[in-house]
Order: sequence, then C-alpha cells, then structure tokens
Amino acid sequence: MEDLQSALNEQGLTVSTVPEKGRCLLTARDFYPGEVIISQEPYVCVPNKSSVDSRCDGCFTSSNLKKCSACHVVWYCGSTCQKLEWKLHRLECQALSRLDKDRRKSVTPSILLMVKLYLRRKLQSEKVIPTTATDNYNLVEALVSHMSDIDEKQLVLYAQIANIVNFILQWPEINIKEIAENFSKFACNAHTICDSELRPLGTGLYPVISIINHSCLPNSVLLFEGRLAVIRAVQHIPQGDEVLISYIETAGSTMTRQKALKEQYRFTCTCPRCIKVGQSDDIQESAIVEGYQCKDDRCNGFLLRSSDDKGFVCQQCGLVRDKEEIRKIASELKLMSDKVLMSSSSGNYQETVSMYQKIDKLQRKLCHPFSISLMQTREKLLKILMELQDWREALAYCRLTIPVYQRLYPGFHPLLGLQYYTCGKLEWLLGDTEGAIKITSSKAVDILRVTHGTNTSFMKDLVLKLEEARAEASYKLSSKDELQDLP
Ligand SMILES: [Zn+2]
Ligand SMILES: [Zn+2]
Ligand SMILES: [Zn+2]
Ligand SMILES: [Zn+2]
Repeated sequence: MEDLQSALNEQGLTVSTVPEKGRCLLTARDFYPGEVIISQEPYVCVPNKSSVDSRCDGCFTSSNLKKCSACHVVWYCGSTCQKLEWKLHRLECQALSRLDKDRRKSVTPSILLMVKLYLRRKLQSEKVIPTTATDNYNLVEALVSHMSDIDEKQLVLYAQIANIVNFILQWPEINIKEIAENFSKFACNAHTICDSELRPLGTGLYPVISIINHSCLPNSVLLFEGRLAVIRAVQHIPQGDEVLISYIETAGSTMTRQKALKEQYRFTCTCPRCIKVGQSDDIQESAIVEGYQCKDDRCNGFLLRSSDDKGFVCQQCGLVRDKEEIRKIASELKLMSDKVLMSSSSGNYQETVSMYQKIDKLQRKLCHPFSISLMQTREKLLKILMELQDWREALAYCRLTIPVYQRLYPGFHPLLGLQYYTCGKLEWLLGDTEGAIKITSSKAVDILRVTHGTNTSFMKDLVLKLEEARAEASYKLSSKDELQDLP
C-alpha cells in the first residue's frame, strides 16, 4: 500500500479511506478537462467470445486470426501478440490442453479470466513476470467482494464455477472458497473493455482503476486505448477533490440508477444527483425521462399521477390522461417489443426496421419526447439502417436523437461526442461535406478531444477525415465559382 501511495503521489494523486465509501482516489494537484489522470494495463483480461466472431487474446482485434494449435481455445492475430502473451499462455495452454474437446468448448471468458488471474499470481510470485507498485496481486486482494451481501443461489453458482477453475488448474493447494470470492470481486470490480466507439470487446481487471468511486455526475471518464484503461478529467478538478467516474448508464432516473448500483455494485449512491431524490426537480426529471406524453401532442409538459390515482396530469396545461388508456398502449408496446426481438434474431433487417418504426410511432403517443425508451428505439433504428447502408434514413433518426443526447449527456460526455460524430459521418457519406464539417468539427471534435485525448488513432483519423471534408468542400466551392465565372 505504501508503494502504491508513493507511485500515485508521483502522478499527482493519493489514496485515502472514507468510512462509508472505502478507498477513494484524490487529486494532489489541479487537473483540467482532457488531461489524463491515470492509466493502467489490465492485471488480467479476456476478449469476449461469441459464436460469430473471436478476438485476439493480445490486442482484441477480430481480423486475421489463427487459433493456438495446441489448445484450440485462444486466438492470436500474429506472432507479436502470441509472443507477448506466451509466458502466461504457456501454462494456460497446458492446463486447457488436458481438457477433453467438449469441456474446452464450454470454457467461458469469465472462467478464463479467473484461470489467468491465478496463473499470473503464480508467475509473479515465482518472479517470471516482474511486479511493480501498481501491478501485483496484493492490489487484487484489496478489492471489495461484498461476499456477505450475496444471496445463497449466487454463492452456489460461484462455488460451481470455482470448481471448474479448480478442475482446469488442478493445483492441490488451491482454495475453492477464495476462487468463489474472486468471482464476486470480478462482478463488482471488472471493467468492460470497449473500443473508441464504446463497442464492448472484452473484460479486464484493473485494480488501481477500481479504487476510483462512482458518481452519477462524474468529473472524469474511463475509456480504453486497446487494453489500456485511461481516466481523463472532463471538468476542472481542484487539488484535494475526489476523482469520480460513472459505473452505470447515467441517463436514467434516480430510482433506476440507484437500483442498478445496488444490484451490481451493492451500494447506495449519495452523489449530488442522488441526494435530490424526492425533491421537485428530481420528480420532474423522472417524469420526463421515464414518463408520459401530454394528451395534447403539441404540449411538452411532463405528467404526474393525479391525486385520485385515476390518471396522469400534465403539469403545464392541466390535461389529464386516463390510466386505462396508458395501460393499453403500454401493453401493446410490450407485445411489439417481444415480437421485434424474435424478428431481429431471424436476421430480416427490413422487417425489423418496419417493426421498430411502428414501436417508434406508438412510443411517440405514449412517452415524453425526451424519454429514454423513445431514444433507445431510434438508436436501434439508426444502427440497423446503417447496417443496411440506408444513410439518409439513418441520418434522420440520428438527428432526432441529438436533442435528447444533449439533455441526457451534458458537458463533455463521450456518448454525445460520438453521436455528433455519427451524424457527421452520415452527412459525409451523403455528400453533405459542409454539414459534416459543421457537426464534426465544432461539436464532435470539441467533446471527443477531451474524452478521447488528441493522440489516439481514433482522434487522429477523425481529424484527418475532417481535413479531407474541408478540402472537398473548398474544392466544391471553387468549382462553383469557376462555373459562375464563365461568360
Ligand atoms: Zn493481436
Ligand atoms: Zn494454447
Ligand atoms: Zn448518484
Ligand atoms: Zn400539456
């Protein structure tokens, strides 16, 4: 712990302990928007596994993969990644090779992550892999597990998968209870590793990053550069303040956020947004993001339950919506959502689009225009339409989501930046270079340079595309001038 403290001090940070929160990371100097606060390589990590695409164990890419010829479980993109992982994989490969074919197929990423955890600990204790102040098993031991809060059923499940890990490793001295506890640690400490556009790639354990606590109004953001976890400030953080990131989707109402935090991370948030629970602006916010549309569809007022509980009253114009009418639309929507899930698994994109469009129409009748569920439907339409390369329709839905994003993800939020980026990309694809410059340059880049940094390949590509768009726009402009110059 002392080693960690001095390593962090060198980076302008310090660890402290607060009774209700446990450990927390504090700044020992001022940090400014866009500045990297801390970055860390994972202690262990695994790529996601799906039936359609595998990923390289080293860099998580999904292209040009070759299976390890000995164990047939892990994939590599080439010899560089394979060599980099070899010290650990040599032992993992031996262990996996002992399993019969069917068992090997059923090894999940979380089991592999646990196997890697034990192998890495072993290699570090044998000094085959060096340890540093920020890279050692003691940091994993210091993570919270919340074992006492876990219900019986979950404990049985952890014990079962701990037995599988034991079966794979076959170490006589291994402690099953400790493996089970480590699974519980994974559940509340492991991070989903995403690419620059926030698509999930894998899971990693970052014991120093895990010290950082949650806020629904965070001053920092966690993003990944490959497997490297990078925390950047999105606000000015004065010396002595706590570094805070969000563990969950911050758009939901206070109740929704609290529920998510309790279920996965087992604590009650007391951030500036959460302590407002039950106050009038918190009630208004919930009624907007998760509530109903006024009976008059030109009115943007929010609705609250009437005192006789027979309906919902618009707080702007006073119109009442009948509870029964709302219930009817809601159950119709439920039916349609169940159906669309089936159709999307069948792979019929056109059919899925038309079903989501029907859902969108019905939700517009039911939900407040700034509601999250309406935004999510449009988000799905945007994704499928891009898959279908229907850029024009995709852009229309993308534009519809922008005002909701601005409201739900204010300030330097990566999701807002990426939505502007998608908008710009679609405008560019449709030949609207001027629009693309306006959106991409002034808005996407302004946000993403803070959340993603300026040195990442994603940002360099973005800036390059922007320059291309500028060149094309000025070329169009000059050729227009030339035409006008003709007699
Ligand atoms: Zn690779
Ligand atoms: Zn292997
Ligand atoms: Zn909160
Ligand atoms: Zn109204």
